[in-house]
Amino acid sequence: MQDSYRYVIVGAGLAGASAVEGIREVDPEGPILLIGREEALPYDRPPLSKSLWLGKKQVDEIHLHERDFYDSKGVDLQLGAEASALDAKAKTIATTGGAACRYEKLLLATGGRPRRLDVPGGDLPLICHYRTLDDYMRIREQAAAGKAAIVVGGGFIGSEMAAALHSNGVSVTMVYGGPYLVDRVLPADLGKALQDDYVSRGIAVHSEDVPVAFEERDGRVAVATKSGQKIEADFAIVGIGIEPETRLAEAAGLDIENGIVVDEHQRTSEPDIFAAGDVAAFPYEALGGRMRIEHWDHALNHGKQAGKNMAGADQPYTHMPYFFSDLFEFGYEAVGEVDSRLTVVADWQEKHKTGVLYYLSGDTVRGVMLCNVWDKVEEARTLIQASKKVEPAELVGAIK
Ligand code: NAP
Repeated sequence: MQDSYRYVIVGAGLAGASAVEGIREVDPEGPILLIGREEALPYDRPPLSKSLWLGKKQVDEIHLHERDFYDSKGVDLQLGAEASALDAKAKTIATTGGAACRYEKLLLATGGRPRRLDVPGGDLPLICHYRTLDDYMRIREQAAAGKAAIVVGGGFIGSEMAAALHSNGVSVTMVYGGPYLVDRVLPADLGKALQDDYVSRGIAVHSEDVPVAFEERDGRVAVATKSGQKIEADFAIVGIGIEPETRLAEAAGLDIENGIVVDEHQRTSEPDIFAAGDVAAFPYEALGGRMRIEHWDHALNHGKQAGKNMAGADQPYTHMPYFFSDLFEFGYEAVGEVDSRLTVVADWQEKHKTGVLYYLSGDTVRGVMLCNVWDKVEEARTLIQASKKVEPAELVGAIK
């Protein structure tokens, strides 16, 4: 490690690793330091709740790049290290137990940390707030066929991990506060149909219920719920959202508002500090307004654009990120504002269990979900970006 770098990136997730690529598209040689809290080389997170459980990928296939890539790009990797002090005036960053080093441009790609279950026993060792590769490795060991799991949360992690564990012979009981699965995104009829599908496969579902206490007994974990249920299992997984990891930025005095505030060039309130990915509250050009997006495609593209801009490209971020999920036979891709509180117009083919959902605010399309319909994300983007007034009837067949 040197005592000075042209570029320092804090956070070795997808946004941080993509920033390396962005920097190198513009500046072939400025020295880069990439600091990551986890020991593992930067990896892709979606397989942790999807393909690794279906045998479609192995752990050694999820790294974004091999170590040689970083060597060949002139990147010093400091993994297993926590950036602990940022001095925006002196332009230095220090890691716990390490010396401070100087930067010319800094990227905060610090992501988020899992929201914790704030109930008695919520931090017992048999409860995993699921997010990292280490979490996957640990749960993989516990998740033998015939074991039982409690899954708390009915969002992305809860719905995907319940399906993943069930597919591996684990008996799953879900507990979540919403009225049906993935209720922030799916309209009620589809979310309820998905929930019925889970139940018909043998997953026990306690919706509109939340844990009030956990205890560990004889190597097992038990949860008591608000409605008075008591459920026992071999281990528990929690997916109740993330908190943006803004602590370093806050201590350094950067503007924070539901994440680190950045402009369209990913610049924070300090001109030589950038932020990207899950942690950044950015101006979303296509939809208007400031947003924070916690999805893979955003981390990939926002991180890369931040890298380019750190190296002087001076280009705005105009990408409309999409996201995707696989829940047994139900797979979808979605783009834009996919919020179940909007008016949803469904162009649905019940016979084939496929369809396109259009999410409208007033009479304009703000988001599109493509259910078991593939390779249409670009069409959906075009429709949203057109921002035209539409009649619901016009949407039937608009994307096929
Ligand atoms: P999430 O999708 O935001 O879901 C969180 C769930 O937890 C919601 O159902 C929420 O219910 C509930 N909840 C919030 N606070 C709670 C509390 N104190 N007690 C009990 N329940 C609570 O978050 P996630 O599933 O944990 O996923 C974590 C992150 O990984 C997210 O950033 C997500 O985008 C990302 N991820 C994405 C994908 C994908 O794109 N396919 C897959 C996996 C993970 P209410 O709605 O009632 O508040």
